Amino acid sequence: MKFNRRAFMGTSVAATAAMSAPMVMGAAHGKPRVIVIGGGAGGATAARYIAKDSEGAIDVTLIEPTRVYYTCFFSNIYLGGFRDLASIGHSYGTLAAKYGINVVHDWAVGVDRDAKTVTLAGGSSLPYDRLVISPGIDFIDGAVPGWDLSSQNKMPHAYKAGSQTELLKAQIMAMPQGGTFAMVAPPNPFRCPPGPYERVSMVAHLLKDINPTAKILIADPKEKFSKQGLFEDGWSTHYDGMIERIGPDFGGNNVEVRPDAMELVIDGEVEKIDVCNVIPAMKSGRICEIAGVTDGNWAPVHAATMASKADENIHVLGDSSAQGDMPKSGFSANSQAKVCAMAIRGALTDSPVFPAKFSNTCWSLIETDDGIKVGASYEATEEKIAKTDGFISKTGEDAALRKATYEESVGWYSGIAADMFS
Ligand SMILES: Cc1cc2nc3c(=O)[nH]c(=O)nc-3n(C[C@H](O)[C@H](O)[C@H](O)COP(=O)(O)OP(=O)(O)OC[C@H]3O[C@@H](n4cnc5c(N)ncnc54)[C@H](O)[C@@H]3O)c2cc1C
Repeated sequence: MKFNRRAFMGTSVAATAAMSAPMVMGAAHGKPRVIVIGGGAGGATAARYIAKDSEGAIDVTLIEPTRVYYTCFFSNIYLGGFRDLASIGHSYGTLAAKYGINVVHDWAVGVDRDAKTVTLAGGSSLPYDRLVISPGIDFIDGAVPGWDLSSQNKMPHAYKAGSQTELLKAQIMAMPQGGTFAMVAPPNPFRCPPGPYERVSMVAHLLKDINPTAKILIADPKEKFSKQGLFEDGWSTHYDGMIERIGPDFGGNNVEVRPDAMELVIDGEVEKIDVCNVIPAMKSGRICEIAGVTDGNWAPVHAATMASKADENIHVLGDSSAQGDMPKSGFSANSQAKVCAMAIRGALTDSPVFPAKFSNTCWSLIETDDGIKVGASYEATEEKIAKTDGFISKTGEDAALRKATYEESVGWYSGIAADMFS
């Protein structure tokens, strides 16, 4: 007998109010099966919550190629020298040992939505009742003329953390005295809106110490950017004269790079540079395209469940999703994953589901103990994840408050890492 999704969806909705303990919905193959593609902020959280809250009633398989996940969050803090790389690396052992999650270290390379199977690079094919996809971002080919993935060792993006971040740091450390660090900033929408500007702050912090006559040049296609007033205020306080940003008015949107010659061309003008951090325009992780759940660049979802608008048995989380007002952040992905896990657990085990609520805060460090933040709460509407209220740090805050804000971010990091991996 085949699993009848329509029938169980009806039952599940009716029983939602019954507040019963997890109960397995009758799937002919035994326990309902959930596959999660991507073990990052969205995927690891979703896998952990589905397994934990269903108390073993759902079979959860997590597919992730890497054995150690380096968080992009706090990777800028590593660049600035406030943390070592090991402190932002996390492995999957506890998810397997404590929650019985089947962790498969491989790439998902195919999704057959009719057969409801996922194909792995290793050749196997795994069946699912629900599929969660949280693969982060990929770069749009040709977005920065002169740059493609084959240039990423000469001009690193460091927008997927790990060896790229380590490489960028090594290049900064080896810069000649008085040299130039250049960044090609991405257009909207992109992963972590304050990320490039926190990175500039951390590079400036490092250079101020080891290479005080060095310069930082940002070519930026955007008119404005996240927490701009706060960053610019901090840059003039801590790094006066070191950082120059060229926005679209002066050609920051007309850029070419020449990795072999180490040149950055801004509006026809050639700049010789020593390190070039190219952060190209982004789109959803490639597996979303393969699964056929994107509108071109991103994967539209229903806000209340994070279910794909193209297929209700597939949920897309985090950076890859087009969900509405939330920024693409680890905090957002983690928040969306819990809503999604609850919806899947509710549907597959006939257990209670509560209204979706989301929240996000993005902290950034400008200089030692000078932390700032922006954040908001959100709710699910028919149309999208909609912002309900928000807050942002102010210029002129006293040093004690800025220090407390940074310390809050350190606490947040420990909390989200535990929420994903422990
Ligand atoms: C420099 C920087 C600083 C940042 N700072 C912050 C911060 O301070 N706070 C914050 O909240 N956010 C921050 N972010 C953003 C945050 O890292 C991302 O928004 C978040 O990681 C998104 O989660 P995700 O699950 O969508 O993707 P990811 O966390 O990137 O996880 C995706 C996972 O999917 C895997 N994957 C991809 N394709 C496949 C496939 N085909 N098969 C199997 N696995 C696959 C990848 O290996 C990866 O492990 C920062 C980002 C950057 C770049």
